[in-house]
Amino acid sequence: MPGNLTFDDLKSRVADGTIDTVLTCFVDMQGRLMGKRFHAVNFVETSFEETHCCNYLLATDLEMATPDGYASTSWETGYGDYIMAPDLSTIRLTPWLEGTAMVLCDILDHHTHAPVPHDPRAMLKKQVARLKGLGFDAMMATELEFFLFEKSFDEIRKGGYRDLTPISGVNEDYHILQTTKEEHVMRPIRNHLFAAGLPIENTKGEAETGQEELNIRYADALDCADHHSIAKHAIKEIAWQNGHAASFLPKWDHTKVGSSSHVHQSLWKDGDPAFFDKDADLGMTDLMKHYMAGLIHYAPDYTFFLAPYINSYKRFAKGTFAPTKTVWSVDNRTAGFRLCGEGTKGVRVECRIGGSDLNPYLAQAAMLAAGIKGIEDKMELAPPTKGDVYDDAKAADIPQTLRAATETLRNSSFLREAMGEDVIDHYTRCAEWEQEEFDRVVTDWEIARGFERA
Ligand code: ADP
Repeated sequence: MPGNLTFDDLKSRVADGTIDTVLTCFVDMQGRLMGKRFHAVNFVETSFEETHCCNYLLATDLEMATPDGYASTSWETGYGDYIMAPDLSTIRLTPWLEGTAMVLCDILDHHTHAPVPHDPRAMLKKQVARLKGLGFDAMMATELEFFLFEKSFDEIRKGGYRDLTPISGVNEDYHILQTTKEEHVMRPIRNHLFAAGLPIENTKGEAETGQEELNIRYADALDCADHHSIAKHAIKEIAWQNGHAASFLPKWDHTKVGSSSHVHQSLWKDGDPAFFDKDADLGMTDLMKHYMAGLIHYAPDYTFFLAPYINSYKRFAKGTFAPTKTVWSVDNRTAGFRLCGEGTKGVRVECRIGGSDLNPYLAQAAMLAAGIKGIEDKMELAPPTKGDVYDDAKAADIPQTLRAATETLRNSSFLREAMGEDVIDHYTRCAEWEQEEFDRVVTDWEIARGFERA
């Protein structure tokens, strides 16, 4: 792709003055790009080797609060440093920002230089390596759904998040006429991301007023997660540059459908699809069936990694295309897992549980771990469900609240084994804190409900 740069490419662009700034970023627990803006000369001369950040950055919430209860970092230990180690294979242009390039970093322990195990990128790399040990590569695609609003983030925040008017007044699912009216935002999103080296497939209107979807071509799991984080960040910046807000909150209005991030998954061996057998029913190999059996069986354990906030669970509503059941079906959008491309080389499973707020590294790491467990244990895949799965009383439910998902995460011996005790303790604390913060607050709904009538 044109926007991917080698370190030598970067050096020559810095020498000829076309690049003056290098965004040096890592991905936090919430999936956000965090880091520093380097003068490009400093980056290519010294900082390309390493830079530093406070180790609280992998233990904050969205507000940058510093909750207690994390073993890895605390006031008691004085909030020391991590090393940010630039992964020079991720250097790329960021054409929506003048004279700027970007690099993603891995997070290392300041003293031992070992990868920090709860760094989202490290967590995904670990599962990719386990899969490689079995002889397979994972190809993934994450869909990005979001809403565009008429006003900017700053105007909306100053207005107390009251005036949330979507950019369009009609359900724009697949609409060309309505999406033409939004091209001043969506065209730069496609073109700038393509020029940044992301294999953009398309954008389309989604099934609500102001709802959009971006599709990026499937790639190796780590590249896919990198693409997702960069794209989500760029969408917000490009919307802001155009005076609008782009929100990835999964459910900003309970009367409207929510935003998801479906994850397409297939395993490959030596460059060939390992999920496809042309002679098998639906073209699915036994490997695929075992992978899917693990994915489905352990979905309650890892739901937190697909739905990390209170609001994420408001999306799981019957009749909205968001799933409520951990079953699979063939090209049926009411189940948690949908078989796509059946009978072809593109046969794959799409997990429909994840919300637009998921962290793609954590989501993919958890799903790969579940699939690997299915393969290792040769788990049996139940037959597909048919029809409207919302009303299937026999089908297992997705945990319906953050509280429930926190408990399945905490008690998951499978995830503890696959990801490490410390890592699961870390993210359980993250989940608990989010719930504690919510439980402290009196909501608008409670006041309107009870102020006069209680
Ligand atoms: P739909 O619109 O029905 O959801 P698409 O054909 O647009 O399906 O594909 C959705 C996503 O799946 C795209 O991002 C595409 O790159 C990805 N995809 C296609 N083939 C594979 C595969 N073999 N493994 C993983 N992802 C894939």
